[in-house]
Amino acid sequence: MEIASNENLLKNFYFRKARKHKLRVKFRIMLVLFILPASSIIFLLFFNSSEYDVAANQRSLLGILFDLVILVYVLFIYLTRVKQLLPKSSYIELNQENHKEIWNICNEIIEKLDLSKLKLKIYYIKTNDIEAHITLEKGVVHLFLSRALISHSHHYPKELESILGHEFGHIVQGDSKLFLITKKAFRLPIFLNNMRLCFGIFLALLLFLFSPRQMEPALSIIVISLIYRRIYTGFNRLRKESEFLADLCSLIIIEKSEIIKIVNDYIPESNSPNYPSKKERLKSIELFKRVLLKDK
Ligand SMILES: [Zn+2]
Repeated sequence: MEIASNENLLKNFYFRKARKHKLRVKFRIMLVLFILPASSIIFLLFFNSSEYDVAANQRSLLGILFDLVILVYVLFIYLTRVKQLLPKSSYIELNQENHKEIWNICNEIIEKLDLSKLKLKIYYIKTNDIEAHITLEKGVVHLFLSRALISHSHHYPKELESILGHEFGHIVQGDSKLFLITKKAFRLPIFLNNMRLCFGIFLALLLFLFSPRQMEPALSIIVISLIYRRIYTGFNRLRKESEFLADLCSLIIIEKSEIIKIVNDYIPESNSPNYPSKKERLKSIELFKRVLLKDK
């Protein structure tokens, strides 16, 4: 691509964006794992039931306990960590001798992205879709490549290179924990929170019809549920952003990157709340390309 002419400038453009993204991820994880539980605990500690309506207080205490249980659950998943991302069944480590080409491509990308401090392990997963996953744990990058991708790459090395450019972007962007949280930890909490929201709305309607002066507890349930919803959807937004930025990484780091072709050919037209669709990714790549051309 002609935009690769001023490499350092482009790299810095990407690194700046990646750094901001990383901070946003960190802050949001802090918020969910520490700030929210801490504020709930403080509230519980300083709670004085004698001063207010006891029944209403019990209800709000129950609500806070409910959120604490959810947060403990998220924390548990978060702490039990990375390899959970993949089905444990089937991955085999790939050594350097038998897979020189793959290792060479990885090492080149690692150097370009200044990730040389990290150790790399590559695994082969026995699936027939073209797919790749990456995680970072305790200074070791774990890269998982599917059987289909590896055999495909013998004929189309440039495509593998472009995909790996994207994957290592996730390492620069500090996305490992984000993957974990959006993939596993939040499914149940989001479901429970939505149930609570429905309950709150139902209760509000009932109270509105029969006892409009006592609507306060129902409204507080709705407000709390909406706040939590906002926090969870924030993670989904970040998750999408992580894909857009990883595409940008491939575009900048890999000379003549084929990331557009890859998104076109292998990304399903999905409607997942936390994973961008093919259309969204292509649009984001187009936008980045326009900005990069302007910046040149
Ligand atoms: Zn990705």
